[in-house]
Amino acid sequence: MSDSQPTCPACQSTHVVKNGKIHNGKQNFKCRECGRQFVQDPQNKIIDQATKTLIDKLLLEKIPLAGIARVAGVSEPWLQSYVNDKYQTIPRQVNVRAKKRGV
Ligand SMILES: [Zn+2]
Repeated sequence: MSDSQPTCPACQSTHVVKNGKIHNGKQNFKCRECGRQFVQDPQNKIIDQATKTLIDKLLLEKIPLAGIARVAGVSEPWLQSYVNDKYQTIPRQVNVRAKKRGV
């Protein structure tokens, strides 16, 4: 989706190559200048408001979290914590499956 060339965090070179995926499925890159390996998307990726609005709508449709994560392009762990946070602020108890998965 993004055509923006990743930049090496060590030497700022854009001469990087894809280097497989890391344990959580994120794309790993390797800098050809200095050999540094890095992941383009930091873990605390900012989810924009449009995406959150979309997620809020999808949540009302009782779509499984995995499906929402796919549609919205966010990670399931992120979505789970987003939902947990969201419903913590609502007094009424909502039945969110807080199923832990070892992924
Ligand atoms: Zn580098």
